[in-house]
Amino acid sequence: MSRQLSSLLAIAAVCATLAPAPAIAEATPAPAQGAKSTAAKKTAKAKKPVNCSQVKCLALTFDDGPGKYAGKLLDTLKKYDAKATFFLEGQYVKARPQFVKRMVAEGHELGNHSYSHPDFTKSDGAKIRDEIKKTQDAVKKAAGVEPKLLRPPYGLTDLQVSDIATEFGMPIILWTAGSKDWSSKNVKAIQKQTLAVAEQNGIILMHDWVKQTVDGMPALIKTLKNKGYHLVTVSEVIKDQKLEPGDAFPLPEGWEQ
Ligand SMILES: [Zn+2]
Repeated sequence: MSRQLSSLLAIAAVCATLAPAPAIAEATPAPAQGAKSTAAKKTAKAKKPVNCSQVKCLALTFDDGPGKYAGKLLDTLKKYDAKATFFLEGQYVKARPQFVKRMVAEGHELGNHSYSHPDFTKSDGAKIRDEIKKTQDAVKKAAGVEPKLLRPPYGLTDLQVSDIATEFGMPIILWTAGSKDWSSKNVKAIQKQTLAVAEQNGIILMHDWVKQTVDGMPALIKTLKNKGYHLVTVSEVIKDQKLEPGDAFPLPEGWEQ
């Protein structure tokens, strides 16, 4: 099935599920007063799931970590109830396992970003497999879970990388835009660039080893929220893409799948 068709079907399925809801709600007899207020209290307490096909979602992603400033970043994300995705490098998972544990405990998503950051398109298959496997093992050891997303170093991928990602059952996640934080290393420039490229269901590349990114995060999150963005994990924004293992998203230039 073509990707467009399956997306349309997915949308149709969502519409079909949503459409009858008001009619059912109207037809349901009103519960007794006591029951109603208990139900209302429960609804207010339970966190409403975000539907990224209906509201403005954005996925902030942090590569190469856990970086030196991951703890401060996690504090900020927690304070503003924002979720992020961390594409971790195995060597730093081994060095800073406590941050990885916190990431999972606080509801963030983890991705595999190799063990030591070689260019996968210039590596042989055995090397790529080893890099991915060692990182999966390090994350499992640190936090008890295994990443389900792959972001190859430098965002560079090819058919061999795609085949190996398939073996590991992971789609390849790139980004829709970058914050350019690693090159500007300037709080105002990082904020300005991120706000300029933010879009519904966008995936933004950032780094938690860049101090200015972490320093500017409280103000950036506040501004994004004021603009109506819900900061969610990558899995939330790609839900409608129905990616298969080995698929790359967004598609690199010249790719078809
Ligand atoms: Zn990287």
